[in-house]
Amino acid sequence: MRKIPLLFAVFSVFCCTSLAAQSVAFDTYFERKSLRIDFALSGNAVSQSVAVQQLREEPVWGGTVNNLIDPFNYGGYYIYVYDKASRALLYSRGFNTLFEEWRTTAQAETETQSWTNSISVPYPKSPVTVEIAAREREDMQFHTLLKTDIDPASLFIDRSPLPENKITDIQTAGDPAEKVDLLFLAEGYTAAEQDKFIADARRFTVALFDTPPFTDYRDCFNIRAVSLISEESGTDVSGKGIFKNTALNSGYYTFGIDRYLTTPDMKAVRDAVWNVPCDAVFILVNTDTYGGGGMYNFYAIGTADNERTAHVFTHEFGHSFAGLADEYFTSEVAYDNFYNLDYEPWEPNITTLVDFPSKWKDMLPTDAGKDTPGLFEGGGYVPKGIYRPADHCMMRDYAPFCPVCSKAIVQMIRFLSNRPN
Ligand SMILES: [Zn+2]
Ligand SMILES: [Zn+2]
Repeated sequence: MRKIPLLFAVFSVFCCTSLAAQSVAFDTYFERKSLRIDFALSGNAVSQSVAVQQLREEPVWGGTVNNLIDPFNYGGYYIYVYDKASRALLYSRGFNTLFEEWRTTAQAETETQSWTNSISVPYPKSPVTVEIAAREREDMQFHTLLKTDIDPASLFIDRSPLPENKITDIQTAGDPAEKVDLLFLAEGYTAAEQDKFIADARRFTVALFDTPPFTDYRDCFNIRAVSLISEESGTDVSGKGIFKNTALNSGYYTFGIDRYLTTPDMKAVRDAVWNVPCDAVFILVNTDTYGGGGMYNFYAIGTADNERTAHVFTHEFGHSFAGLADEYFTSEVAYDNFYNLDYEPWEPNITTLVDFPSKWKDMLPTDAGKDTPGLFEGGGYVPKGIYRPADHCMMRDYAPFCPVCSKAIVQMIRFLSNRPN
């Protein structure tokens, strides 16, 4: 195991200044419930739009109640919640979607599609204005796609309960408002395979906390397993003509890539977690084929029984939990020019050198040591023009997380769990 001595000193500055200064009083504006917003993202390679599909009041809020304004500037989208009367910003959060990845594929050059997405915010006490903005590739800035007023007393908000899934506590650390609430969701497990799901979730929990920097932050995580019963075992392998009836409609061959395992069915994912505190979702797919996926503040997904699966889980969780980019640059992907080299990418662990001081320049060693980051060309799916912090990392080849990735993970743990320095 590596030690990462730079980590804590660097983060303490970040934490004390930007996070604390931006906090607003949760109980003044919000109830400890969730407003779930399901929305359609429609478009193609050229343009996109947002339309609300459904609003739901759900009975728990598992997110932080202290750090309501998201300081990270990660993701392809941001949701903002403003007090309608005063226009004050009350809550914000960045996130990614599978739809934005689809927009970079060849298919989006000739087709227009609509995908369902969903995000939950704390339930407002008074009318709010909700804004959804997308980061445009042309300038890397967020541009408003939708602004809509929501009255929390509206009769158009669905308040009906959904099926009560069996919830198993894998690890309980404390109040959901002050912990990272990580949920494992069962996908492709039949009724007869539910015990296997719980055993698999326990195995992955061990794998997570065997991996620095998570090793030192075990007490920041509540971990629960949500049992979902699938009619059939496994998942779709559409490229081989295999289709299974499963709870979350997952499958390989996302965008035509055999190992890219995802589900586009965000409504099913959010329906599964409607009554349980949720900061992060890991979908555990009951199969042994290599594959997975992870998008920031959306979900991570991986397979239960592949021999490399513990590492895949940790890698994908790096994407979904901490907004980390892929540091590899040799494997096949469906994206064309995923990053615009004229701009600094938003992910913390890659740089085009357009704005390197905003990344890990301050972590570069004055005297080189094996645990300090450097600057290695190749990353973000291309061998030239994008740089990564270390030759090897979990985000490239399942080596231990590099110091820059570790720092980003620790920042997110502290943000969500309100952990003091
Ligand atoms: Zn990856
Ligand atoms: Zn890294």
